[in-house]
Amino acid sequence: MSDSDQAFMARALELARKGLYSTHPNPRVGCVIVRDGNVVGEGWHAKAGEPHAEVHALRQAGDKARGATAYVTLEPCSHHGRTPPCADALVAAGVARVVAAMQDPNPQVAGRGLLRLMNAGISVQSGVLEAEARALNAGFVKRMEHGLPLVRVKLAMSLDGRTAMASGESQWITGPAARAAVQRLRARSSVVLSGADTVLADAARLTVRPDELGLGAELTALAQARPPLRVLIDGRLRVPLSAPFFQAGPALVATCAAATSRNRYVDDGHELLAMPGSNGHVDLRKLLLDLAGRGANEVLVEAGPKLAGAFARLGLVDEYQLFVAPKFLGSSARPLLDLPLARMAEAKPLRIVDMRAVGDDWRIIAVPDSTA
Ligand SMILES: [Zn+2]
Repeated sequence: MSDSDQAFMARALELARKGLYSTHPNPRVGCVIVRDGNVVGEGWHAKAGEPHAEVHALRQAGDKARGATAYVTLEPCSHHGRTPPCADALVAAGVARVVAAMQDPNPQVAGRGLLRLMNAGISVQSGVLEAEARALNAGFVKRMEHGLPLVRVKLAMSLDGRTAMASGESQWITGPAARAAVQRLRARSSVVLSGADTVLADAARLTVRPDELGLGAELTALAQARPPLRVLIDGRLRVPLSAPFFQAGPALVATCAAATSRNRYVDDGHELLAMPGSNGHVDLRKLLLDLAGRGANEVLVEAGPKLAGAFARLGLVDEYQLFVAPKFLGSSARPLLDLPLARMAEAKPLRIVDMRAVGDDWRIIAVPDSTA
C-alpha cells in the first residue's frame, strides 16, 4: 500500500463520516475515484434507500472513471438490495482498480463483492486504513459479526464520581458543550435507551434537539430525518402514558409485565414489547438481540445507576462515555453505577481510549479491558 493510497482512503473516510447521523441501519461509507493522481469523483452514503457512495462518486466522475482507481471504505456490495450492486456499477464504468478499507463484515457477503470485481479483471486490494474503517462502523460490524448492537453507556458525574443528590435531583450536572456532545451521541445512535427510574425522576424525553447538535444545515436535516428509536425499559409498566417521554413521540416499551395494557400503548402510537424477565427486570441481552434484529447498530444507554450497573454486570457494555463536571456532589450523593463489589479482585478493569475537555467539563471514553 502506498502513501497516496492511504491519503485517498483517508479522504474517503472523511466523506463516510458525513453519514454519521443518518445511514443506520446501513453503514457509513465514502468513495473517492482517482485518475492520474487527481480526484475525479467523490461520494458518500446519506441514508438507507438512497444511492450508495460508489454510485454518487461514479456519477460525478462520468467518463473519467474509465481506467481510474476507486477507493471505498467498505467492500462494494454484490447483492441486489434496495439499490443495484455497486460492484456491477464499478465494472460497467470501466474502473481499473478498487481499493477497499475492509471487507463487508456480513459473513454471508464477505469477499463476494471483491471477488466479483476480480472476476471482471479489476485489480483489487483490501485492508487500507482498515482499523479506522472498522471503528467508524463499530456498531454495524458488531451486529453483522455477533448479532448484537454496540452498547455505549453515557454517564455524567461529578469529580467525586457522583451522579445525583440523594434526593434524586440530577439535572444539569454538566455544561452546554457536554450537553451538545450528548445530543450528537443520541443523533448517531440507532436506539436511545433508558429505564423507568430515569424517565420518571428526570421527566426525560431522550429526544434529539436539532438546534443543539452544533452541525451544519445539511447534516442536521439528515439527522432529523432519521431520529433514533427511543426505548424505555419498564419491567412493571410504571411510566404513565401522560409522561413527557411518551408525549415526545412514538417509543418502544420493553416490559416483562403481563401485557394486558398493550392496546393503550398502541392507541397512543407506541409499541409494547413483551420480553422475558424476572422480578420485574427485563432480560437485557434478549432485548439487545431484538434491537439488533430491528437493524440497531449503536445503542446509547442513558440511565441511572441501577440500569447502567445491570448492563455493566452482565458484560454487555462496549464503551463508556463519562462526562465529568468540575464539582463535588458529596458523600451522600448517588454513585455512578449500582455495582456492589466487595474485593479489589472483583474490580472491573477499563482502558481509557480518549480523554478531552468539553467546555468546562471533561469527557472520558473507556472500554472494558478484556486483557487485564
Ligand atoms: Zn453498494
